[in-house]
Amino acid sequence: MISPSTRELQALDRAHHLHPFTDFKALGEEGSRIVTHAEGVYIHDSEGNRILDGMAGLWCVNLGYGRDELVDAATAQLRELPYYNNFFKTTHPPAVRLAEQLCRLAPAHINRVFFTGSGSEANDTVLRMVRRYWALKGKPEKHIVIARENAYHGSTVAGMSLGGMAPMHGQGGPCVPGIEHIRQPYWFGEGRFSQGRDQSPAAFGRACAQVLEQRIQALGEDNVAAFIAEPVQGAGGAIIPPQSYWPAVKAVLAKYDILLVADEVICGFGRLGEWFGSQYYGLEPDLMSIAKGLSSGYLPIGGVLVGDRVAETLIDEGGEFFHGFTYSGHPACAAVALRNLELMEAENVVARVRDELGPYLARRWAELGEHSIVGEARSLGLIGALELVADKASGERFARTLAAGNLCRDLCFQNGLVMRSVGDTMIISPPLVIRHEQIDELVALARRALDETARRLN
Ligand code: PLP
Repeated sequence: MISPSTRELQALDRAHHLHPFTDFKALGEEGSRIVTHAEGVYIHDSEGNRILDGMAGLWCVNLGYGRDELVDAATAQLRELPYYNNFFKTTHPPAVRLAEQLCRLAPAHINRVFFTGSGSEANDTVLRMVRRYWALKGKPEKHIVIARENAYHGSTVAGMSLGGMAPMHGQGGPCVPGIEHIRQPYWFGEGRFSQGRDQSPAAFGRACAQVLEQRIQALGEDNVAAFIAEPVQGAGGAIIPPQSYWPAVKAVLAKYDILLVADEVICGFGRLGEWFGSQYYGLEPDLMSIAKGLSSGYLPIGGVLVGDRVAETLIDEGGEFFHGFTYSGHPACAAVALRNLELMEAENVVARVRDELGPYLARRWAELGEHSIVGEARSLGLIGALELVADKASGERFARTLAAGNLCRDLCFQNGLVMRSVGDTMIISPPLVIRHEQIDELVALARRALDETARRLN
């Protein structure tokens, strides 16, 4: 029995609240789950259920819930200076200090940051910056950005156009022109079958880089401005590329003088056991989009970290860049982000993910790979995926109509775990402060959901 107070909120929600990424009609039948409070790695709903948040909210609550230090940083800053902007030759201490700290943590050739309010705004900024860069270099025709299928780069018009999600492209009118999409390095989904079943991950990774080269040649290198990609694709299904992929991509981009944009909105701030996913893969991106873990999601903030090559051109040759958001570098958000970075360093969070928690999750997660309906279990740092299959030997998927992933996700939720589904790929991205015994709990809850999913589908 659902309590009357939950029922009331659900009725108001249904009547007045349009949620992101939600089927409004289906919501009418079910009613939303109402999350009321949280601590550590757990969220609580209005019915008194405690749920292990295996997704850190939306891949963002890196330091976990209930951190008074972040609340105090926000409160102090709101009292001191609740708002001022960074337009027209003004700024304020939190934005300046945060810029300094971000550039200290970023790869050495990155020394500037442009703040935004979100990851989507960061990618909008990227699109304008790379096109402006080439225009300033006297090559305005170099304007096309190559991205990847199934990528998620945000929900603004530019963000969804850069993203490679076909259902998004199908809604709300034409995409921004001059954006192309190529194959994602998804070995389990595509690689195994592309040249017979025995294509190795290494060969597949190189083949994906060849696809990039072929597309550049087809478009003409003089027309291509940049390639944008996440080091590990998150919302597309926690796609960890074969080790051969990034070195081969880097070589192609260098050969044709094309900028590399790393979307670090998920991979940044420790998720892969380095400050940035680019550092894990040895990338030297010209630009990096950031958001989410920058403030552990406590307040909205994003940005673009800009490498010297692009920054110096924009500054020395560009004059005024007609671009900015009212909340670019908002003082309270910047103060929280600054404190978040301080805490991450003081608590050694990034190294713990690399040396301790990531390897432990990898060991425990791999055990789920033995399950009868799991075709592959993969993880890197604190991001992981399970591929659900009807037939373990052949890797054949369940019929689409069974919606196995959604079933498993719903069973997880009922059993006290947030695990997300992307088609029939189950994904996790827990807070970076999760403890060993909580990883054990996460794996046990996931196994229970897999058992129940298998029972219902077989
Ligand atoms: N880029 C990536 C890789 C993301 O995962 C997301 C959000 O999930 C975004 C960009 C968009 O960020 P935001 O929702 O803050 O606009």
